[in-house]
Amino acid sequence: MQLKDKVAVITGAASGIGKAIAIEFAREGAKVCIADLSLEAGQVTAKEITAAGGTAMAVAMNVTDEAQVDAGVAQTVAAYGGLDVMVCNAGIQIISAIVDFKFEDWKRLMAIHADGAFLCTRAAMRAMIAGKRGGSVLFMGSVHSHLASPLKAPYVTAKHGLLGLAKVVAKEGAVHGIRSNVICPGFVRTPLVDKQIPEQARSFGITEAEVIKNVMLKDTVDGEFTTVQDVAQTAVFLSAFPTNALTGQSVTVSHGWHMQ
Ligand code: NAD
Repeated sequence: MQLKDKVAVITGAASGIGKAIAIEFAREGAKVCIADLSLEAGQVTAKEITAAGGTAMAVAMNVTDEAQVDAGVAQTVAAYGGLDVMVCNAGIQIISAIVDFKFEDWKRLMAIHADGAFLCTRAAMRAMIAGKRGGSVLFMGSVHSHLASPLKAPYVTAKHGLLGLAKVVAKEGAVHGIRSNVICPGFVRTPLVDKQIPEQARSFGITEAEVIKNVMLKDTVDGEFTTVQDVAQTAVFLSAFPTNALTGQSVTVSHGWHMQ
C-alpha cells in the first residue's frame, strides 16, 4: 500500500480521471475526499470506495469558489486529521475557434482550470504547512500543457499555465517538504472527450471516426487511447514518491504522443 493512511483531496472526482484516481488512491490505503460540484455525485463515488473497503468522504466544492474550497479542505482535515495530497483535477473543455470564442466562455474555462488550481493549491499548502508532515500537490495538465491544437485556446493557455504554477509550488514548498508535479495525459475516453468528438467532427467537417484516428490519436505510437487507470497509476507514483528529487516536473502519459 503505497499511500497507507495518507489523506488526499481530489477535485472533479465524481467522474472520469478524478474518480479513477480516488479509487486507486483508496486501494493504495489513502483516505480520500471526493470534491466535486455535486455532493450527491461525489457521494456515489465515496460509497463505491467504502463498499470496497476503502475510506472516503465527499464534499460539495466548486473550485472557483474561494469559500467552498477552503471549507472543503478544512472539512477533510477535520475528518481525517491532516492533508497529504491535493490533486487539482477538475476541468472542462470548450471548443471554438478564437475568432468565435465568447469572452464569457474563455473566463469560465480559465476560472476552473487556473483560478481553481490556485485556490486549491493555496488551501492545500496552508493545511500541509500547518500539519508539518509535507505533502504533494498534483495538477492535471495535458499534452496540451506542452503542445497546442486548434479550437482550444483557453484550455491550452490554462494547461501551459499549470506547469508554471507547479514550479512555483515546488520552490516555495520545498522547505516544508511539499512537492508538486503535473500529469500530462493524452486523450482519455471520459465524458469530457466523448462530448468533443462530435463537436470536432462538425468544426473540421470530418467524421467522428476521423476525429479519433486523424486528430486525437494521430501522433500516438499505437493508435490507442490513454486510460483512466494509466493516469491514476501515475498519480499514485507521483504522490507516493518520497523526496524532493521529483518536484516541479511534468510527466506525459500519452502512448508516445509528444515525447519529451
Ligand atoms: P470529466 O468531465 O469526466 O470530469 C470532470 C469532473 O470535474 C466532473 O466530475 C465535473 O463535475 C468536475 N468539475 C467541473 N467543473 C468543476 C468545478 N468548477 N468545481 C469542481 N468540479 C468541477 O473529465 P475528465 O476527462 O476526467 O477530466 C479531468 C481532468 O483531466 C481535467 O482537468 C481535464 O482537462 C484533464 N484531462 C483530460 C483528458 C482527457 O482526454 N479526458 C486529457 C488530458 C487532461
